[in-house]
Amino acid sequence: MKSSRLLLTLFATCTFTAATAQEKVLNLYSARHYQTDEALYANFTKQTGIKINRIEAKEDELLERIRNEGANSPADIFLTVDAARLAKADELGLFAPVKSKLLEERIPANLRSPDWFAFSTRARVIIANRDLVKTEDVQNYEDLASSKLRGKVCSRSGSHPYNISLMAALIAHIGEAKAEEWARGVVANFARAPKGGDTDQIKSVAAGECGVAVSNTYYLARLLRSEKAEDRRLMERVAIIWPNQKTYGTHINISGGGMLKAAPNKESAVKFLEYLAGDDAQRYFADGNNEWPAVASVPVKNLALETMGNFKADSLPVATLAKNAVAAQRIYDRAGWK
Ligand code: FE
Repeated sequence: MKSSRLLLTLFATCTFTAATAQEKVLNLYSARHYQTDEALYANFTKQTGIKINRIEAKEDELLERIRNEGANSPADIFLTVDAARLAKADELGLFAPVKSKLLEERIPANLRSPDWFAFSTRARVIIANRDLVKTEDVQNYEDLASSKLRGKVCSRSGSHPYNISLMAALIAHIGEAKAEEWARGVVANFARAPKGGDTDQIKSVAAGECGVAVSNTYYLARLLRSEKAEDRRLMERVAIIWPNQKTYGTHINISGGGMLKAAPNKESAVKFLEYLAGDDAQRYFADGNNEWPAVASVPVKNLALETMGNFKADSLPVATLAKNAVAAQRIYDRAGWK
């Protein structure tokens, strides 16, 4: 672990000092970890002539690094997934506000803040094993707390940003008191202590270890599109339910980023953000990881997403998710959702 971090640092130092004064560069710190993003970045350089120096690491490591580098940080852009994580960077005062007519026009108001922008969306859905659970019993997030599901709910950690953001949405819709009651109800229904990631929950539901769980849509799409027959067979046993279609809609989260306060290449940084909101980038950005483009007019051709169908998405501003993140974590802690 230590040595790989050192290597990363050395690599960064080398690439960042290699740029000559007249060469336009963009220093990108990214917590996105999708191989398909390569084409997205190469295309930017092709279009603008701006070379991208990219550091990829886990978000906490990147945030710590940006903080340690302070005013001398070479980072221009921070990209990550999840509103709660962007909120954290924002709270630390790392972002600089970006004024861009293009970004304001392209990115819907509920998917941006003055300091950062969402570029793709993902939904958090309920998945169920049809042999163990009646799908009509789990049409809403609220149903996961129903006594009908005793011993049948599986979950990843309550500290994970995906669950924090889901709770943040529930706080906004039903209030803190009811949201906490809900969390306690879900904890009482656990089939086992929280563990693993979303894909582990999908596998456990398929195997019948759990009756229900929640998962981000791209993990489901990944299995639906998998070249391995065993992955696709897993999905035959899993029902996907769009929660809260009759009320506030299915919770969505984002992948996004913003320009950093100390950015040495601000012009390139704004260009890059604007590029990410363009048609080509939106397609790459979303389709590569089976997400939906933030720019609604951009069509998606993705069979797995089409297979999952249309749904009513929660229109809550993602900035609200960010704002409620701290309260959300406290509720999970009090409810014993470890
Ligand atoms: Fe993920």
